[in-house]
Amino acid sequence: TPRRPRLPTFLKHPIPRGKSYTAIKKDLRGLGLHTVCEEAKCPNIGECWGGGKGTATATIMLMGDTCTRGCRFCSIKTSRKPPPLDIHEPENTAEAISRWGLGYIVLTSVDRDDLVDGGAAHIASTISKIKHKAPKILVEALTPDFAGKGEETIAMVATSGLDVFAHNVETVERCTPFVRDRRANFQQSLDVLMTAKRAAKAANKEILTKTSIMLGVGEHPDEITEALQRLRDAEVDVVTFGQYMRPTKRHMKVDRYVEPEEFAKWKAVAEDMGFLYVASGPLVRSSYKAGEFFIENVLK
Ligand code: SF4
Ligand code: SF4
Repeated sequence: TPRRPRLPTFLKHPIPRGKSYTAIKKDLRGLGLHTVCEEAKCPNIGECWGGGKGTATATIMLMGDTCTRGCRFCSIKTSRKPPPLDIHEPENTAEAISRWGLGYIVLTSVDRDDLVDGGAAHIASTISKIKHKAPKILVEALTPDFAGKGEETIAMVATSGLDVFAHNVETVERCTPFVRDRRANFQQSLDVLMTAKRAAKAANKEILTKTSIMLGVGEHPDEITEALQRLRDAEVDVVTFGQYMRPTKRHMKVDRYVEPEEFAKWKAVAEDMGFLYVASGPLVRSSYKAGEFFIENVLK
């Protein structure tokens, strides 16, 4: 058997805890809400939740903790028929978020292929309620692909008042079948990002589109360049690169640990192609310090 690559020191990270960390945690328990930050044991939690100057960021998970899909890199539970949606979730989420004084919130969700609209109305309603209670907070939604649910589901989310529409291609086209659930594909995800942009424009709303690519799953450099070019052609504004980390032994193996220098190279390549903003580094997650990035660099 091939030797497993060792975890380099630049991936080892302490978990700091601050005041806002404790406050947010308490509220989450009370309202039955879940964050990706906690569930995925994200190493950036101290930095994100503790961000100063109104740039603190958290990632809330909507529509439960059980996904209808099973991607090979993801540690979320899978079931063909997850429990029904909590109809109070949009209101509870908006209420909690408006109390925390965050500058930026990322709403993500499991895929709900079992629902007629894939959960689009639930997500859109959460966004408009947040914007109603806390108009200053910037909202990013990291969405499913709503495959087979009709373009209007994507449009519903894209025009709900959000600032950043994110949908992750996760990897290059060739690796997609080995990495993502079989119902996902690269072109389909590109189409989601294009549809979102078009729908927002048609409704006279300004949104940024954003996607993330994990490195270290077996991709080749020319495939990364090609993926970036296609994303740019689809008018995607923001791209992030991070290292794939295997959640458990039952998940797909890490192909390689990418050096910080290579992450820096991809950042430069993507910036040259004209992306508005690029975050790239071993510990970068799709939502890593998003508030800081967007508030200070993009949206001001
Ligand atoms: Fe995880 Fe998303 Fe894949 Fe579901 S669709 S298994 S939540 S990555
Ligand atoms: Fe949460 Fe994302 Fe920050 Fe991790 S990177 S702590 S998941 S907001």
